[in-house]
Amino acid sequence: MKLSLALRFTLLLSGCSAITPRSEPPLASRETIAAAEAAELADMAADAHWNDPFTPFQVIGNIYYVGTSGVSSWLITTPRGHFLLDGGLPQSSPQILANIAALGFDIRDVKFLLNSHAHFDHAGGLAALQRASGATMVASAADRRVLETGQVTYGPTADIIVPPVHVDRVVGDDDTLSLGGVTLTAHMMPGHTPGCTGWSMDVHDTDGQRYHVFFHCSTTTGGQSLAPESYPGMIDAYRRTFDYVRTVQADIFLAPHANFFNLQAKRARQVAGDTKAFVDPTEIGRFNAQSEREFNTELARQKAPILAEPVP
Ligand code: ZN
Repeated sequence: MKLSLALRFTLLLSGCSAITPRSEPPLASRETIAAAEAAELADMAADAHWNDPFTPFQVIGNIYYVGTSGVSSWLITTPRGHFLLDGGLPQSSPQILANIAALGFDIRDVKFLLNSHAHFDHAGGLAALQRASGATMVASAADRRVLETGQVTYGPTADIIVPPVHVDRVVGDDDTLSLGGVTLTAHMMPGHTPGCTGWSMDVHDTDGQRYHVFFHCSTTTGGQSLAPESYPGMIDAYRRTFDYVRTVQADIFLAPHANFFNLQAKRARQVAGDTKAFVDPTEIGRFNAQSEREFNTELARQKAPILAEPVP
């Protein structure tokens, strides 16, 4: 025993990793992914028809919608490979893969896989997409653990386990990713999750016009507990994010759920010939104000004292 301890001590001093190997969180196996794809939808996803199919299309320039009817997934193409933002539900990945192929792109050309936030409805399909693409998975430090364990530890989604991914690269506020002349900037928007991440980029329309695009994370409370806070600092985090979004100028507002940015209505207008259906510089401000009002209402509701039973 003495020898063994001495040996361990020597090996540790020499920096040998044989005794304490750095544990790399594994990417979910093909079997785990297949089981998750085949599993019954969670009630909240089924009730809202989140996984109904939606025909993929070009939003503007090099930005394509490849998500489902209720949950967004964005393909941002470049001549050197593509970015793919969000993986939908665990059951959405076959649709996302088919949508990318239907638009004439190859999943193997996806070089960066991004995530708005580590909830089952936006991260559930990432493991399948990481396996199919071999892309570098990029995430915020604060959402990394949930992505790598596949499980949120609080709130209404805590009992939903999704196939874990392997996070290859961690990004912080204002960090950028560049590929084929396209640069995406990360924006930390904590609140809905501790590591909620918005992304922004410039896009050129076919007429040469340049637009600034903001991919919002989420600022809904989503049935989570604010009082008590689901994680320390949650209320302050939401407030800082509302303040931050107030400063953001964006010509095109896109978000993780279709109803946040009226996907169906805008797409219908686009199909009818409105080439600028997704351009609305006032939308991000309106969305943020509405979201903040809803947050304050929900916070007040949760903080309200429970009325005592009337004395008979
Ligand atoms: Zn969420």
